[in-house]
Amino acid sequence: MSGKRVGVIGLGSVGAFTALELQQRGYEVVGFEAFGVANDLSAVGGDTRLFRRLYREGGAYYHLIERAYELWRELDKRLPTAFRECGALALVPEDSDYARDLEAYANEFNIEHEVLRGDELHRRFPQFTSCEGDVGYYDPCGGFVRTDLVVRDAFDRAEALGAQHIEATVTEVIPHQDGVTIRAEDGNSWEVDRVVVAAGARTTDILPQLAPYTRPRLQVMTWFQPDAPEDFRATEMPVFIREGDGFHAYGAPTLDGLHVKVSGLTEPRDAEFDGIAYDGQATLDDLRDCEATITRVLQDVHPVPVRTAVYPELYAIDRMFILDWLDAGQRVFVASAFSGKGFKMCNAIGELVAKILHDEAELPRAFSLTRFPGWVVE
Ligand SMILES: Cc1cc2nc3c(=O)[nH]c(=O)nc-3n(C[C@H](O)[C@H](O)[C@H](O)COP(=O)(O)OP(=O)(O)OC[C@H]3O[C@@H](n4cnc5c(N)ncnc54)[C@H](O)[C@@H]3O)c2cc1C
Repeated sequence: MSGKRVGVIGLGSVGAFTALELQQRGYEVVGFEAFGVANDLSAVGGDTRLFRRLYREGGAYYHLIERAYELWRELDKRLPTAFRECGALALVPEDSDYARDLEAYANEFNIEHEVLRGDELHRRFPQFTSCEGDVGYYDPCGGFVRTDLVVRDAFDRAEALGAQHIEATVTEVIPHQDGVTIRAEDGNSWEVDRVVVAAGARTTDILPQLAPYTRPRLQVMTWFQPDAPEDFRATEMPVFIREGDGFHAYGAPTLDGLHVKVSGLTEPRDAEFDGIAYDGQATLDDLRDCEATITRVLQDVHPVPVRTAVYPELYAIDRMFILDWLDAGQRVFVASAFSGKGFKMCNAIGELVAKILHDEAELPRAFSLTRFPGWVVE
């Protein structure tokens, strides 16, 4: 095995699973985390993330999603409530690109689903505002993953197998002939054979050469109080995506028995970091946007959010993942820019990264850095 000691920078969604998969393959993982595993200033925050098998974003993700589905189901047996298969509904206008993309994906990969319209759609899912002109694609294998629970569990398992956890804010990774030097803000440095950078929205603080191809962004999450919360539980409703004229919202049934979560009611905005901090406050304009749009998504909910939270994420300019070596010597691997969709498959991404380092899998071309015009391997 070449490069036995591997630094994993960022123990969030993808880093925690990468650390576990590498450690399981016999590597000596040294995990670096600035703010604690599964912290609330990362894309792990906000309790849950949607999982869907019927996936609009296309075939590049097919193998990862299918593998993620197997792994979430396995994990849920050991860690009950980690994955709730309550179904996923995409509620979109008939004759929209979204509907056409879902049809194409379902046909190409033979994904089980139901197509619902009109009265039937309303009868099955009365939580949604009038569905006239909309078509619903119901994916019975969809659901939600409990984010902090699974990330924490992944790194706990890695640690139990011998992974090291270093609390440090990494500022630089410097590949050289014999390995990689990792430098941290506090002046400390470490030597490892290879590095995986999975620092989420803050990846470009460590790898500024990726800045032209990526943008750190902030997304507001909001929770609403339904008039009859019992109708918004996972036994009654699926996770959902609702797209309409000028809006794209997505959400999950109530976890606490009281509040239903809906995101996407405000436009994501560019993130600026000051050390660990970013502007994590929803604004009055955000609240007004939520109030104006929620009634187009769900009915019988109080339109003013009762809870808000803001989370960071790195977007690639083409909204595809980045999974690639940074350097010709294959010392520094980047696993980042999951562009608003990485959590559902972070377990499978971690496995794929470990397999690439272990020469068990090829680099996926669709996620390669060479797709960016002007990218030069160092
Ligand atoms: C509001 C919102 C809703 C979303 N909804 C969904 C959804 O429904 N389904 C879905 O599949 N995806 C969704 N996503 C996307 C998904 O959450 C992300 O793609 C995924 O979590 C990103 O994982 P990551 O490992 O890249 O980043 P993170 O999980 O943010 O992990 C990065 C880690 O690196 C650490 N770190 C950063 N800088 C340093 C440093 N210098 N030194 C050491 N450690 C550092 C951070 O503390 C953090 O722990 C959503 C994202 C957001 C923001």
